[in-house]
Amino acid sequence: MAKVLLENIKRKFNNVTAIEDISLEIPDGEFWVLVGPSGCGKSTILRTIAGLETATSGNLYIGDRLVNDIPARARDVAMVFQNYALYPHMTVRENIAFGLQMRKVDPKTIQQRVLTVATSLALDHLLDRKPKQLSGGQQQRVALGRAIARQAQLFLLDEPLSNLDAQLRDDTRAELKQLHQQLGITTIYVTHDQVEAMTLADKIVVLNQGKIQQIGDPQSIYALPANEMVASFLGNPPMNILHAIYKGDTFDISGQLLQIPPNFQQNLKLNLGEIYHLGIRPEHINIAENLGGLTVEVKVVEPLGRETLIRVSLPGSSSFINVQIGGNVRLHPGEKLNLQLDLNQLFLFNSHTGERMFPLL
Ligand code: ATP
Repeated sequence: MAKVLLENIKRKFNNVTAIEDISLEIPDGEFWVLVGPSGCGKSTILRTIAGLETATSGNLYIGDRLVNDIPARARDVAMVFQNYALYPHMTVRENIAFGLQMRKVDPKTIQQRVLTVATSLALDHLLDRKPKQLSGGQQQRVALGRAIARQAQLFLLDEPLSNLDAQLRDDTRAELKQLHQQLGITTIYVTHDQVEAMTLADKIVVLNQGKIQQIGDPQSIYALPANEMVASFLGNPPMNILHAIYKGDTFDISGQLLQIPPNFQQNLKLNLGEIYHLGIRPEHINIAENLGGLTVEVKVVEPLGRETLIRVSLPGSSSFINVQIGGNVRLHPGEKLNLQLDLNQLFLFNSHTGERMFPLL
């Protein structure tokens, strides 16, 4: 096991800056998830740590060792990619054993380790099959098994679940979490899936356009996103962002007036007539019996059994507001609703920079 330290790592491809001045300190044994939209640089960071890319500048340490000039095979890291890259002509047993054989581990140890790993991944009954005789989920577990068997000091996983169907993805995700709890190997995991990030991570690193937006544990990032990008990226459905003009005691939202919460007035100095971005999560909006909230029109209703997702829009606005109501709510497109926003759960973002203005820290 090892801690990992990135110091001002940059990677340019000709004139494209894939990663810009990334510094991270990942403690020994933790599970960190790099998350962000396509092209934000997360795979480049992972490949740089693995030694498959060379940083344009900066220093990279695995454990206490500076590895800038150490080739991939000597870094003692195990990688699992989205495409499992199993050897098709080898059995599951041979695939799992391969890395150990390459390192000339003695055959008895290999045999024991393959069996232990296969049992922990529920592959022990499949050891004599070839990859094409396995389901996608089983193949991905073999790829994980091959990485685990190596007992590397660092695990690097790049979207390892994205080829699996929804149910299998949920199951394998839970298995991965359990495995990490058992083995405690430092793990860096890349995904664009915010659910994977939230459920797996000790710490999440949210990236955008090659830059770190925020680092923190899932609950803290969800509760206190640093900016609008993070707020809209984590959470499904995402946080609603409403364009609000400051009018003194009220915000004007597409011509409707919303009372300004007292804590905004006390803590912020807002400029009359200026546009701010007001954030509210779908679970913090309710359907109100009486008037006084925002009048909206129902566009789409998605009953999920335990909850109902409703997409509504303000009159004259083409953008949706997502509302999440517990239980079954019977509504129809075209119906008018009155929404009550929980004023204690409002966020305010600077409309130019996207920085969070409220809540304050
Ligand atoms: P995705 O989720 O789509 O895999 P990502 O966040 O992992 O995206 P990267 O693959 O790290 O993003 O790419 C970051 C940026 O660097 C992108 O703009 C990409 O086009 C660019 N890039 C990556 N590899 C190369 C390369 N070999 N040559 C030129 N540009 C590259």
